[in-house]
Order: sequence, then C-alpha cells, then structure tokens
Amino acid sequence: MSFRQDYLRSLPAVDVLLQEEPLKELAERLPRKLILQSAQEVIDSYRRCIMDAETAADLESLKIVPAELAAEAALKAESHAGTSLRAVINATGTILHTNLGRAPLPQCAVDALADTAGTYCNLEYSLETGERDSRMAHLEELLCELTGAEDALVVNNNAAAVFLVLNTLASGGEVIVSRGQLVEIGGSFRIPDVMSASGARLVEVGTTNKCYRGDYEAAINEHTALLLKVHTSNYRIMGFTREVERGDMVELGRRAGISVMEDLGSGTLLDLASPELPSEPTVPECLDAGVSVVTFSGDKLLGGPQAGIILGKKKIIDELHRNQILRALRVDKLTIAALENTLRLYFDPHTALAEVPVLRMLKREKEDLKRQATELQRLLQNELQHQQGEWEVTEGTSTVGGGAFPLAELPTYLVSFKAEGISPGKLARELRFADPPVVVRLQHDCLLMDVRTILSGQEEQIVSAMRNALDKLT
Ligand SMILES: *Cc1c(COP(=O)(O)O)cnc(C)c1O
Repeated sequence: MSFRQDYLRSLPAVDVLLQEEPLKELAERLPRKLILQSAQEVIDSYRRCIMDAETAADLESLKIVPAELAAEAALKAESHAGTSLRAVINATGTILHTNLGRAPLPQCAVDALADTAGTYCNLEYSLETGERDSRMAHLEELLCELTGAEDALVVNNNAAAVFLVLNTLASGGEVIVSRGQLVEIGGSFRIPDVMSASGARLVEVGTTNKCYRGDYEAAINEHTALLLKVHTSNYRIMGFTREVERGDMVELGRRAGISVMEDLGSGTLLDLASPELPSEPTVPECLDAGVSVVTFSGDKLLGGPQAGIILGKKKIIDELHRNQILRALRVDKLTIAALENTLRLYFDPHTALAEVPVLRMLKREKEDLKRQATELQRLLQNELQHQQGEWEVTEGTSTVGGGAFPLAELPTYLVSFKAEGISPGKLARELRFADPPVVVRLQHDCLLMDVRTILSGQEEQIVSAMRNALDKLT
C-alpha cells in the first residue's frame, strides 16, 4: 500500500495544472469548463495508473511532471472542443460511400443551404396570398415536371418512404413480393422487417432465382393490398434466372384492381448506361410503364440530400397525406432547399451531368483520372522527397457504392504508397487524424488513393496530411 502514497501525494491539484503555460494559453480561446474537465481527466488517469500498480517496480518509470500533465490536458481539451461531424477527404474511390455521407451536394444546393439556414424562409407560406401553404409546394410541381408523375411527396429517406406507402396502402393486408427481391441494404434495412413494422403481411412468391407471372397470380386473393417490386440495388442474381417484367406486373395489377409499387432504391432520372455501367431503370421509365407508386433516395444516384422521394398517382399521394405518421417523417427546410436546387439542374441533362458531383464522378474520363493521378503523384514525390517511401500511379477500379450499380467496376487510376518499415495500416490511421482527415483504401497490404472521389483543391491538403503522418511514423 505505502509505495503508492508518495506517488498519489505528488499528483498536482487541478489549480496547479491550470497555472501551467499550455493551459493558461488555452484559457483565452476555450471555455473554462472544458479545460477543467480535461485537466481532471488527466489527473484521474494518473491516479488510476497508480492504484492499478501491484508493486513499487511497476511505478518506477512513472514521472509526474505538472507541465507534461498540462500539455496532455491541453491536447484533450482541443479534441473535446473540436466538432464531431467533420468534412473528410474521400480517397477511397467509392462515390456513394454511405459511411462518408453519400452524395456531396452540388454547389447551388450548398449555396441555397447557406442562404436559407440562418434566416426565415417561406417554408409553409405563400408569398402570393400571404397565407399558409404546404411545405411540399416547393417540390411537388418540380418533381412532376421532371418525371411525368401525377403527384409527389418527399420524406426523410427512402426507408421512410417505403414504410409510409406500405403503412398507408397495405396495413392489415397482404403485399406480394418475389423471393429474389427480399433486399437487405447496409445498416440492416430489410424489406421483410419494414413490411412487418408497417402492419402489412408479406407474401413471398417464386424462388430465389426464378419468379413467374403465374406465381403472382396464384398468390392474389381478397386480402392482397399491393404488388411490390424491389430493385435489387446492391446485388444481382445471375445465371439461371427469371423476373416478371414491370409491364406484366402492371397489367396483372390492373386486371385484379391492385396497385403496383416499385422501390427503386437508388432511382436515377437520367439513363446513365455506358460500357462500364449496365442499364438501370430510370424513374420516368417506371412511371411510364404504369407503376402506381415509385420510391427512391435523394442522396444516391440523384446526388442530392438525404430524402425519400415518392412519386405516383394523385389518389395514392392524397392518401399518404392523410396518414398521421407523415408528420413524423416530414422533411425540414434545409432538405427542401438542397433538394429543390439539386432537382432544378435536371431540367437540362447536360447541366446535371456537369454540376451534380455524383454524376460527374460517375462519368469521369480515364484520361482525366490519369492526369489527376499523375499530378498528385508528382506533387507527393516533390514535396515529400526528404521522407521515406515511393509513390506510384497504377490502374485499378472504383465502385459506385450506396446500393447502386452493384457489379460496375469503373476503370480508374490510383496513387499507391510503399515504404520499408512503414505499415500501411498505421499510416492510414494517422491520416484519419489529419485536418481534414483523409480516408484511403487499403488493399493487399498497400495504401491506395483513388483520385475519382478526390475533389479539386484537395491535393494540397492530402500532401500536408501525408507529410505530418510520415513525420510521426518515422
Ligand atoms: C437504399 C435503399 C433503401 C433505403 O433508402 P435510404 O434512403 O437509405 O433510407 C431502400 N430500398 C432500396 C432498394 C435501397 O436500395
């Protein structure tokens, strides 16, 4: 016991630490409460270390120097003071990286956020009549014009959209879905689970790989409320397969007097097909085929803010408006501002392709990627020539991510780093602590940066992050 006493007694009091230079300096910028808390945390951690020691020998290397404790506390306070949600550089090449916030917004949407966020706006107010208006007014007409839909409604995300439609149209009834379309997407959104939460009963038809028109026909009865088609947005069933065409489902629904819903998932307004990208159904295509209600995300291929877009027959959208649950799912003014401005770009497909970052990254030419990779490699080589390691440009592939184009492998260029004695994993970790943090790809024990998702102007920040990280590791 006694061997601990001397150490415990030498622990400085919080007031003593506050008199040390690093903390005195901080007191001018950061709240006192935060500094006190950090100083206390450091003292507590030393106390715990002393109490955990079993013999005097365990503590021999422990030095309690107030200036050092204060420096530790200053670092802690700085990190407590920083915000938790931060901008990061995405060097993974995955365009719709769900963990990195999916779509970076078009500049006009960013400007619109800045304009509306700090002031009042006509969210539910008609400037024409001076009376109350619906917040959906800002989006309804726009969405109808762009897609040919009869009516539109926007909620917080596509999961909410699917839930709202099922809850409104099919609660207490049956919904027929092909077994091959029982999707689970990241974050464990599962169609069967959403279905049961909505009060609808799931009726699975067909087998995993094959589903025929007759399977649906046999399942339809007086309890059937909806036929549901789910876009297999993050996987494909290949080989010996069969699905019932959209048009056939519509025809089947029409004859039985049952609505057809399609959960498109990523939902694109433009046909993005190219040699690298297989053809995906577009939103107008589904509506043209006669689907009664279509849902998709705002922050996947559309390239806007997180939102769930519901398009379809006026009668159905009216019913959705009458569901009390809608109040819990409604979007705020920031989402509306960002989405309206993203959507407006789609009036001219060329403008959308040029201005929506997701589309721009998806469509980048190989030559352009090669040029950017070569420039980044040269910059790193020149700026970091005194540090260890070799930079190389190699060819590789990017994935789209976010539950879109699951099989697409987009040819890209990567900048790779290798150095004797530097672990790529440790370097990647240091890069995550940079300001702004840089998220890279690790593959076959190699650190790779895919330039496809590196935005213009971020190269300098990458070089500086890399310089600091290598300094720490060598
Ligand atoms: C992504 C996806 C969803 C969920 O959309 P969120 O906007 O992420 O809520 C639902 N269904 C399908 C098929 C999807 O791909």
